[in-house]
Amino acid sequence: MPVVDVSIRGRGAVATSLALALGQQGLRVAVSTGAEPERADVRAYALNAASRRLLRRLKVWDALPADAVTPVYDMQVRGDAPAGRLQFSAWTQHVDALAWIVDAAELDGALNAALRFAAHVQRVDDGPSASLTVYAEGKDSASRRALGVRFDRHDYGQTAIAARLIADESHQGIAHQWFRAPDVLALLPLDRPRPQRSFALVWSLPTQRATALLQMEPAAFEAELQAASPDVPAGLRLAGARAAWPLAIGSAQPVCGEGWVVIGDAAHVVHPLAGQGLNLGFGDVQVLADTLANREPWRALGDQRLLQRHARARAWPVKSMSWLTDALVHGFSSQSAWARELRNRGMGLVDHAVPAKRWLAAQALEG
Ligand SMILES: Cc1cc2nc3c(=O)[nH]c(=O)nc-3n(C[C@H](O)[C@H](O)[C@H](O)COP(=O)(O)OP(=O)(O)OC[C@H]3O[C@@H](n4cnc5c(N)ncnc54)[C@H](O)[C@@H]3O)c2cc1C
Repeated sequence: MPVVDVSIRGRGAVATSLALALGQQGLRVAVSTGAEPERADVRAYALNAASRRLLRRLKVWDALPADAVTPVYDMQVRGDAPAGRLQFSAWTQHVDALAWIVDAAELDGALNAALRFAAHVQRVDDGPSASLTVYAEGKDSASRRALGVRFDRHDYGQTAIAARLIADESHQGIAHQWFRAPDVLALLPLDRPRPQRSFALVWSLPTQRATALLQMEPAAFEAELQAASPDVPAGLRLAGARAAWPLAIGSAQPVCGEGWVVIGDAAHVVHPLAGQGLNLGFGDVQVLADTLANREPWRALGDQRLLQRHARARAWPVKSMSWLTDALVHGFSSQSAWARELRNRGMGLVDHAVPAKRWLAAQALEG
């Protein structure tokens, strides 16, 4: 006899948001919180409009401190030749913002605080028996193998460096990105630690180069960073520790079976160059919650046919984003002259093709 309706394994944003969403439906939910992370997450996530709507419904978005969320009004993408320029603006896209940059540690804190007040949700050390078990254990999920799930993973041989920066001038709500060989660099506007003058850095590089940068003294690292990001607010300096993540692409197959489903990074991992991994995970949460809410009255929560509806609805959004990010990684990692010419001219063309640009921005906004 199940003790709860749904047992969720995982302690990340995907697991906690799903627990809140299912608790709102009146389902009895247990979420296994596991050990606390050893250090605070220095990252900031670029979240899209769909993720924001989900977090609003869960009453988490409006609980975030004002300086933990910064809207992006403009996005400037540069290649590695003068022709390679692409600009997006919220104004031409007719939206409030292109994305919202959210402090990762604050988001985690707000989700966990909401869980403490959520009726029907209990936090447990280990998952009790349930009609449905959801695995949201992240990219290194230990349960996949026991479920018979294959995880195809390809390491990019790259590492992302993340850090908080402070600049001398205001960020003006502009996100800057450089797509080039061999690195991809993003400076995302943020109001922490200093209002108007902070950026979240995500710098993806070949692992050897990333290791060298991580070992440098702060002043030497800042000089390298400033050289790699010309034409942006001057005086970029580190506001705290640097952290590193090895980068890979991965996908799980199958993602569901009788009584279980795998979601979030446990089901699909993408390169962070487009800032879409968590947006995909929140997409899983929304679709799974809707699928369970709309089931026939006689159908059990763990019914494989029901869970396959969720898997079918998520297949295309996840696949298309995986292909897109993978194509960008490969397109921008070649050092050959013709590849450089092609990608920079391509960026210039898209910049002038207004409908194509609108379509691209809409995909990123809605996931
Ligand atoms: C440098 C970088 C920048 C990024 N930037 C963005 C961005 O701007 N926008 C965006 O959308 N995405 C971004 N991402 C991707 C995003 O970080 C991930 O997609 C997201 O964190 C996945 O969430 P998750 O909850 O599925 O997994 P995780 O965040 O990995 O959480 C899973 C957690 O569950 C724990 N766990 C595992 N097993 C169990 C168990 N049995 N019981 C309890 N706990 C367990 C794990 O230890 C882990 O803490 C970025 C990624 C990187 C590396």
